[in-house]
Amino acid sequence: MKGSRGLNTSKLLITNGRVIDPSQQMDRVTSLLVADGRIAAYDAAADPEVQVLDARGRIVAPGLIDMHVHLRQPGFEEDETIESGTAAALSGGFTSIACMPNTEPPIDSQGTVEFVRQQAAEKGHCRVLVVACVSKNRAGKELAEIGQLVEAGAVAFSDDGNPVADAELMRRALEYCLMFDKPVMNHAEVRELSQRGVMHEGLVSLVLGLPGIPAAAEDVMISRDISLAEATGGRLHLMHLSTLNGVEALRRAKLRGVRVTAEAAPHHFTLTDQCLRSFDANYKMNPPLRGQEHVEAVIAGLSDGTIDVIASDHAPHAKEKKMQELDHAPFGIVGLETALGLVVTRLIEPGHLDWPAALAKLTINPARILGLDKGTLRIGAAADVTIIDPQFRWRVDPAEFRSKSSNTPFAGWELTGRAETVIIAGRIKLDRRRRNV
Ligand SMILES: [Zn+2]
Ligand SMILES: [Zn+2]
Repeated sequence: MKGSRGLNTSKLLITNGRVIDPSQQMDRVTSLLVADGRIAAYDAAADPEVQVLDARGRIVAPGLIDMHVHLRQPGFEEDETIESGTAAALSGGFTSIACMPNTEPPIDSQGTVEFVRQQAAEKGHCRVLVVACVSKNRAGKELAEIGQLVEAGAVAFSDDGNPVADAELMRRALEYCLMFDKPVMNHAEVRELSQRGVMHEGLVSLVLGLPGIPAAAEDVMISRDISLAEATGGRLHLMHLSTLNGVEALRRAKLRGVRVTAEAAPHHFTLTDQCLRSFDANYKMNPPLRGQEHVEAVIAGLSDGTIDVIASDHAPHAKEKKMQELDHAPFGIVGLETALGLVVTRLIEPGHLDWPAALAKLTINPARILGLDKGTLRIGAAADVTIIDPQFRWRVDPAEFRSKSSNTPFAGWELTGRAETVIIAGRIKLDRRRRNV
C-alpha cells in the first residue's frame, strides 16, 4: 500500500527508542520495524519509503495490558460503554484490556460474550478480552457453562463484585477451568466479615465512626482459595490484593508450587485509609484503602515479584451515584487513565521497581495468565506497541478523561510518565506528539 506522500503505509520504523521487552529480557536502544501489522525486524536500516517515528528519549514497550476493567456495558451505559471505556484504555496506553462480567445481564452466556466481542470489534478503540461469570447470573449457586463460554471466547472466569462464597462451587470452578487451562479470578471477600463496611477496619474507621471491613475478610478467602487451588491443581488468580497477610499467604503458596498468581491496583500501593477522613466517596473502593503496613506489604510484594500484575480495577460510576454520602455511594474508582502515571511516580521513581520489572507486570505477565499471544515485541508478534515519555509531567484533570465517568481520587495530582504513542496491529491509534494534547 502507498500513502498520499508516497510512503509505504504498511510499514513503520520506530527509531532511537529504549526498547524494553521483558518477554525477551531486552532493554536497549534500537530501531524496530513494523510491517503488515507485525513486528518484523530489529536494527532495521532507514528506507526513504518507510514512515519513521523518532522515539528518542522514549521507552518503546509492548502494548500495555490491563486484565481487570469494568466496561459496564450491557446494562450500565450511564457509567461507561465499550466505546468510552476502550477510549480511556487507549488514552492510558493500554492496547488490550480484559472486562469483567458484572454487567446486566451478566456475561454468563455465549450470547453475552458474543455481544461484548461484537461491540468491541465495531466500536472499540483497543482489544477487548472477555472474562465470563463463574456462576449463572453471578448468583453463586450453579456453575456457568464454562465449556460453552470458552468456546465463545472467554479468557478467564470471575464473579467479580461478588465473591464466590460457596467453597464447593469454587472448588468445582477451579476443576472445570483447569480442563480449559483458564484461571479463576476471585474477588476475595468473606461477606459475613465485611457486612455493611464502607472502609478498612482500623483506628481510622474507629475515629470516624464508620463501619469497617477487616483485613481478615480478604485474608480468610485468600487462604481458602489457595487451599482449593492446591487441592485441585487449578489456576487461581487473586484480584486486587490489598492485605499484608494476603501477600504473605501468596508468597508461601508460590514457594509450595501452588498455581496462583495475583494483581495489585494502583490505589492500593498509593493511598491509605487516612484518606477517608475527607469523607469523599472517591476513596471508597472494595477492597478498601488499608493501613500503611498493608500498603508497604503490597509494594514489597510487587518489588520481590510475589505480585505478578498491576491492574487498574477501573470501576466507573456516574457522578450522581458517586456523589452520595459514603454509606450509599458505590465502591470503586476509574483507573485506566492514571495507572501508568501512578506506576512511574509511586513505584519506579522511588526505586521500588525498575522499568523492566514494572513493564513485565503490565505486559507479558498478564498475557501469560490470560493465555494471550500478546505483551511481547518478539519478531512475528502482533505489533501492539506503547511508546512512553518517561519524564513527562502532567496534572490529572478528570475533565480530560475519555472515560464517561470521572470518579477518581487523583484529581489535581502531579504525575510523571505518560503514553505518548499507541500502536495496535501496526496502526497508530493514539499520537500525542501531533495533536499536542
Ligand atoms: Zn472485585
Ligand atoms: Zn473489579
